[in-house]
Amino acid sequence: MSTTPPFPTSVPAEAPRRAALRSLDEALAALLADLAPVCAAEPEVLPTADALGRVLAADVVSLLDVPPADNTSMDGYAMRAADVPREGAVLPVSQRIPAGVVGEPLQLGTAARIFTGAQVPAGADAVVMQEVCEALPDGTVRVNQVPTPGQWVRRRAEDVARGAVVLAAGTRLTPAALGLAASVGAATLAVARRPRVAVFSTGDELVMPGEVAPEAMRPGAIYNSNRYTLRGLLQALGCEVDDLGIVPDRREATRAALREAAAGHDLIVTSGGVSAGEEDHLKPAVEAEGRLSLWQVAMKPGKPLAFGAVRRPEGAGEAAFIGLPGNPVSVFVTFLLTVRPLLLALQGVPAAQATRLPALPLPAGFDWPRPDRRREFVRARVGDDGRVLLFPNQSSGVLTSAVWAEGLVDIAAGQAITAGETVRFIPLAALN
Ligand code: AMP
Ligand code: MG
Repeated sequence: MSTTPPFPTSVPAEAPRRAALRSLDEALAALLADLAPVCAAEPEVLPTADALGRVLAADVVSLLDVPPADNTSMDGYAMRAADVPREGAVLPVSQRIPAGVVGEPLQLGTAARIFTGAQVPAGADAVVMQEVCEALPDGTVRVNQVPTPGQWVRRRAEDVARGAVVLAAGTRLTPAALGLAASVGAATLAVARRPRVAVFSTGDELVMPGEVAPEAMRPGAIYNSNRYTLRGLLQALGCEVDDLGIVPDRREATRAALREAAAGHDLIVTSGGVSAGEEDHLKPAVEAEGRLSLWQVAMKPGKPLAFGAVRRPEGAGEAAFIGLPGNPVSVFVTFLLTVRPLLLALQGVPAAQATRLPALPLPAGFDWPRPDRRREFVRARVGDDGRVLLFPNQSSGVLTSAVWAEGLVDIAAGQAITAGETVRFIPLAALN
């Protein structure tokens, strides 16, 4: 992480004491530029079947062509197209080729009965599907279609050519990627080790479900929901999570929690306590135990957001630190926009990919007459008419909105919207 000043010098000077805001893109670029892919540097080899969601640490190179030979994509008859100059031509059936069997070279002027996946015999250049053929009792076939050369033939190497990189290092493994690896014979894959993440929640108002019953809650107390949201988000990204629980709003306790969290972890994620209030102790605690690279980010929700690093004991380097705001929706949104890219980058996903927000251009089913000066990410869904709908209460404390939402609308700073205009809809499923 950089020790350069947190704000670019090109930003116009602001009134003293008023922190300049960084854009989300600038903040992420600075954060990732400085982050070593420590998990990718310590790869482990897993059975391909167990590598879902992990990030490849080495290229997967194919040692063969896929398909290995021309084969048919239909049940039917293989022939030379030139032998059927008109509909209704009759050819003798000279052989039968099920999948997995290699037939004889095709005798001139004959057809081969063939089944999906079977190798097309030498000399045949087309397949006619069985629906347009009539097998006759004398062992011939009437072909009721004039074939075009190449029809229903899957070409050798049309998927993968021998020597090709089918999956590059830094690729996050989806089910389809696992299948592709298997299709070139990869039984094991080298992947980045799982990120080790420590989490804790700050706030004297917090109590744990199960420890205090709803009817026994003292005035002013709320349940610690962030702990569950964060743990779930981290697990979904394949992290090993150590939960340090609730840390009281005191400087020393916060510093002690940071020290404990730094040992043995790649990343520390916290919620709450990062505003400028006097009960917010994370900023000074991180400065005392490490360094704070960035402070405020021009996004909503999530303006109070802190990035930095915390020293490990005995010169064992440092753990990256992200302090998320306390509000439950802010936690959810800022995690997806900042922690997720960072976790992917630790595993070797290239920065451009890690920070990509795949947005769909969709018509707004709402008006947004009073835009914020910060870029906003609002909780939304796609209605049956294909228009984007907003959850009616966009308060950062209303966690119901995050459960209702299927995506976030990415609204630029100062952008007013009238219903019918195109907006950027980011499906949550794309940020899994
Ligand atoms: P803070 O950033 O600490 O000022 O917290 C902002 C808001 O988020 C306050 O209303 C807190 O009560 C709430 N909050 C903080 N941490 C949590 C948590 N772990 N679970 C639920 N709400 C929280
Ligand atoms: Mg607090």
